[in-house]
Amino acid sequence: MSEIITNAMTVDVEDYFHVTAFSKSINISDWSSLEYRAETNTERVLGLFDAAGIKATFFVLGWVAKRSPSLIQKIHAAGHEVACHGMSHELVYKQTPNTFLNETKDAKHLLEDLVGVQVIGYRAASYSIVKKTLWALDILLDLGFRYDSSIFPVRHDIYGMRDAPRTPFNPTAGALLEIPLTTVELFGHRFPCGGGGYFRLLPYVTFKAALRRVNHVDRMPAVFYFHPWEIDPSQPKIAAGTLSKFRHYHNLNRTQARLERLLSDFSWGRMDSIFIGSNRYTNVERVSLSKESA
Ligand SMILES: [Zn+2]
Repeated sequence: MSEIITNAMTVDVEDYFHVTAFSKSINISDWSSLEYRAETNTERVLGLFDAAGIKATFFVLGWVAKRSPSLIQKIHAAGHEVACHGMSHELVYKQTPNTFLNETKDAKHLLEDLVGVQVIGYRAASYSIVKKTLWALDILLDLGFRYDSSIFPVRHDIYGMRDAPRTPFNPTAGALLEIPLTTVELFGHRFPCGGGGYFRLLPYVTFKAALRRVNHVDRMPAVFYFHPWEIDPSQPKIAAGTLSKFRHYHNLNRTQARLERLLSDFSWGRMDSIFIGSNRYTNVERVSLSKESA
C-alpha cells in the first residue's frame, strides 16, 4: 500500500477582465467600470472547498484585495493560505526590476495587513517569470517570500521555461523554493497538466490519469490551479481574438462539475503545508537557470 500524496490546490484570485488574453481588448483604466464578479465567484469557490473539506492556497491579486478586503479575511478565516499574485497583473517581463520590487512589496504588505500573518508565497501574472526575468526571484527572496510558483517548465507562446526542472528546486543563493506548475512526461515530452485551460480542454479521465501518473510514477505532489471566473459561465463576454476567446470560454459550463470530481478523486492541501511545512523540500537541489538557453 503506497502512501497517499497530498496535492496542492491553488486559486488565482482575479476577475475575468484581468486575464492576459484580453489585455489587447481591455484597458486597465476600464477595469473599475466593468461588472465585478470576482467576489461572488471566490465565495462560490470557498463553498466548494468547504463542502469537500479541503484547504487550499489563494494567490490574491492586490487589485482584488483593495476592492474586497473582507473577502481576503474570509479566505484566511476559513483556514486557507493567502498568498500573493502581485498588484496589477502586469506581466513581470513588461516591468522593470524597480517597478516589480515596489508593486510586489505593496501587494505583500496589503495582504499581510488584512490577514495579520506573513505572506510567504508568490505567483506571477501568467507565469511570467521566464529566462529574461530571473532577477525577479532574487527580489522575491529579498522581500521575504519562502516560495514562488511562477515557472511553467514547458514551451508556450506567452510563458514557460522548457528546460527548468519539473520538481521543486532552489533557484537562488538563499532559501527560496521554486515550485513549478505540474507537467507530465510522456514519450519523452512534457505536457502541462496543472489546470487552467488544459483542465477544461482535455477529457476529465485523461486529466485524472495524468495527475495519477505524477503521484504514482513520479511520486510527487501536483500543483493544480484555476481561477474563480472559470466556474462562472454567465460572465459578460468580451470581444477578443479567436484563440483568446477559445482559451477563456471553452467548457466553462462544465468546469464546476469537473472540479468537484477532482476535489473528491485526490487528496488536496495548502502550498505552505505541503512544501514549506515538511522537511522534505528543505534541502532541494540548487539549480542555476541560465539566461542563455531557451
Ligand atoms: Zn493571474
